[in-house]
Amino acid sequence: MIKEAMLFRSLPEQKVSCFLCSHRCTIADKKFGICGVRQNKEGKLYTHVYGEVIAAHVDPIEKKPLYHFLPGTTSFSIATIGCNFRCPFCQNWQISQSSKREKDEFAGHKLLPEEIVHAAKDHGCQSISYTYTEPTVFF
Ligand code: SF4
Repeated sequence: MIKEAMLFRSLPEQKVSCFLCSHRCTIADKKFGICGVRQNKEGKLYTHVYGEVIAAHVDPIEKKPLYHFLPGTTSFSIATIGCNFRCPFCQNWQISQSSKREKDEFAGHKLLPEEIVHAAKDHGCQSISYTYTEPTVFF
């Protein structure tokens, strides 16, 4: 779902400056930032991944990996497409590097914040993890 982003500044000539992450992208009209999910539309920055996930799983907390934090519990784990990293060893590259920005079409399905909380509770999870891709792009 497309939604006006937070943490950006409009610049002359319909450009925007995003300061969500340390890339500090300057983005021309219709173009995307390095993460592939934040797009300039006529001088305003929008996120394409609000209320959408590409993956949702119940994982052991130790897989996050967190040690000595709620040991033995499960964490409701979600991801969007897109990432601001380009790690050559990424095991989730199919989703992290998949923005489909060329087609203006984004993979994923709707899962609103309140639905994520309900799903986590329904599955008996004691935590929610932003995982599989770099979590900043959820913002
Ligand atoms: S990579 Fe994405 S989140 Fe980071 S500054 Fe660029 S547009 Fe913003």
